[in-house]
Amino acid sequence: MRQRLAVGNWKMFGSLPENQALLDTVAAAMAGLRKTICVVCVPFPYLAQTQAALAGSKVAWGAQNVSQHPKGAFTGEVSAGMLREFGCRYVIVGHSERRQWFGEDDRTVALKAKAVLTAGMVPIICVGETLSERESGVTEKVVGRQIAAALDELGSEILKGAVLAYEPVWAIGTGRTASPEQAQAVHASIRGLLAKRDGSLGDLAPILYGGSVKAANAAELFAMPDVDGGLIGGASLVAQEFISICRAADQTSGRDG
Ligand code: PEP
Repeated sequence: MRQRLAVGNWKMFGSLPENQALLDTVAAAMAGLRKTICVVCVPFPYLAQTQAALAGSKVAWGAQNVSQHPKGAFTGEVSAGMLREFGCRYVIVGHSERRQWFGEDDRTVALKAKAVLTAGMVPIICVGETLSERESGVTEKVVGRQIAAALDELGSEILKGAVLAYEPVWAIGTGRTASPEQAQAVHASIRGLLAKRDGSLGDLAPILYGGSVKAANAAELFAMPDVDGGLIGGASLVAQEFISICRAADQTSGRDG
């Protein structure tokens, strides 16, 4: 059975008092989750607060970026080993905002995923096309290139420890969501690419959808057979929205029921 996940990406938002209220409310509401892992990926300075607030709860936590290097003179960077010390289980790598604003390319993203896996955590590897790429009909080619970079660097066996997230760039933070059918089509094509390299990887890899997921559209997206949950930006900062989205992931059946 494929793991279902609902992952909040707080981006560069939050403050100590706001976080505390959000974390406490989410942790209390998630006690009844049956099959879905709920995760919050918070800014680095809030990891200690998050660890303290969520310890012993059903909610896991993680980071939004990591260095590909284990240690060294890399001012301003944070290593995977450091994240592990704060109890992180997940790290988002290759978010389109990192690719767009910080110049991260496919190989850097693959190396970051490797650093996360080596430190015993789960990378959430983001892929997705821009609006102009979708309009030019090259969505599957672009996503295929991004997936191939991860497969080439990590190998299919290691990639079994990762989560993938399909996030069309045109849907992130825009209020414009891919339709369930659009999401399903890309998820199925990613699964096909993975299966070509390794049948069980195609079958087992959790693939999340991200891009303006809200309480109002989560259930229909998560009901698609190849969508195993979501990566949620803006709506993860609003407790009741995020709680509803996590419940939608838990209550929809996806492939395995
Ligand atoms: C994201 O940050 O990964 C994301 C999908 O953002 P939003 O849900 O706000 O579109």
